[in-house]
Amino acid sequence: MTTLLSSYIEQMRKQLGSDTDAFLASYDQPRTQGLRINPRKINENHPGVLPELQRLFTLEPIPWCPTGYYYEEESRPGRHPYHAAGVYYIQEPSAMSAVELLDPQPGEIVLDLAAAPGGKSTHIAGKLAGEGLLITNEIHPARAKILAENIERMGIPNAVVVSSNPPQLAARFPSFFDRIMVDAPCSGEGMFRKDPDAVGEWSPAHVEMCAARQLDILQDAVRMLKPGGRLAYSTCTFNEQENENTAAAILKLCPGLELERTERIWPHLHRGEGHFVAVFRLAEAAGEDAPKPSVRGRTQGRGKRGTVRPEEEAVRLYERWAAETWMPEGTGFQLTPGEPFLYGEQLYWLPQADCCPFDSSWLQGLKVLRPGLHLAEVKKNRVEPAHALALTLPPAAGVRLQVDLPSDGEEVQRYLRGEALQSVESGSGWTLVTVDGYPLGWGKLSGGMLKNHYPKGLRR
Ligand code: SAM
Repeated sequence: MTTLLSSYIEQMRKQLGSDTDAFLASYDQPRTQGLRINPRKINENHPGVLPELQRLFTLEPIPWCPTGYYYEEESRPGRHPYHAAGVYYIQEPSAMSAVELLDPQPGEIVLDLAAAPGGKSTHIAGKLAGEGLLITNEIHPARAKILAENIERMGIPNAVVVSSNPPQLAARFPSFFDRIMVDAPCSGEGMFRKDPDAVGEWSPAHVEMCAARQLDILQDAVRMLKPGGRLAYSTCTFNEQENENTAAAILKLCPGLELERTERIWPHLHRGEGHFVAVFRLAEAAGEDAPKPSVRGRTQGRGKRGTVRPEEEAVRLYERWAAETWMPEGTGFQLTPGEPFLYGEQLYWLPQADCCPFDSSWLQGLKVLRPGLHLAEVKKNRVEPAHALALTLPPAAGVRLQVDLPSDGEEVQRYLRGEALQSVESGSGWTLVTVDGYPLGWGKLSGGMLKNHYPKGLRR
């Protein structure tokens, strides 16, 4: 039962008039629960375990998101091994409206400016289908780490995770992005049913502070939008000051910015906790010159003539490992367009998009958690495959050694706890561990035992 402040009720009465009672009655209803299936792992051509998910979690389609489903709270999909395999992402249903309205297309350059824990970013990445580039940013370092974990869990190859503030990014990426998502920090009125503690943080002064901060963030976002580009501004609050008024204020401040549409999801009218989305477009003639990085020069130094650059050596070791690990005829995994990027001992694959000159020099001076797909850790004369690489592999990736664990068995739970497993598989070496065919992580087989390489920080 949620107890609401009288000043909040008064505000909603002014805003909703005769709808107020229905709105207030929605607080006595149970909150809605949603998950979005990962189109990299389940799609029209490969429905995979979708029928099983429908059975396990009693899924019902969410009308405004083709990959979104309501689930029954007691079914706890967050605890199922398919969650660890990135088969789906748990997200409040009305929050799924924002990326549907932003409508990113494969091959585009997209920014998610306030991204943790990653609901909108993982949704955007699904729509990019591995083509183009997603820069996903979270200002708070601890939340950025969770964002990076979720990007990895969902097996996204073409995302760069950074932790910057919007002015810093705006200075680095002027007129750079085709689409930008600004899911702004807000007073969270749509969270009251889900999180009754959020009620205690609400006050008119907090609303005012949020509205001012939203306008600051939006101004930086517009500076990063290409002429002709689209920006979606969303909040999980009902507050007009933060929603319609902020949208009107940014239009006034930014010549060339046009409002295409606004949408609201209300808990008394729809099955969702509530969301506001405004979609803007920047006119073709507006904006600054074509993008150039503000910092020149590559981060990785080139070797002297005749010497091998460390990243070339790292790629050579990775390719040797890949040749040993994949079946010769295996075509299940291709790196997306990109370039190697060595960060200490960690080898990443930095994504590139056809239409933009993006390389590692753009990231200089930024706090980068994940410069693309983490491929491997480079050791002396060998590599160890990264967890992220396993999660990026499609089912049936053609890995030579694979241990497949049934999702309803005890062994998969033991693997997720970090325990070693006995295996009937013969052979030795790096082994892909899957659950009902979906990659979960790596292990190393030797003498009938599977040594566990599931990351320590993720173990249950
Ligand atoms: N988009 C996320 C998702 O779908 O999972 C939720 C984002 S949440 C509504 C807003 C985020 O903005 C928070 O993670 C918060 O840390 C971040 N934030 C707070 N202050 C900020 C600022 N001044 N600039 C940018 N982001 C900020």
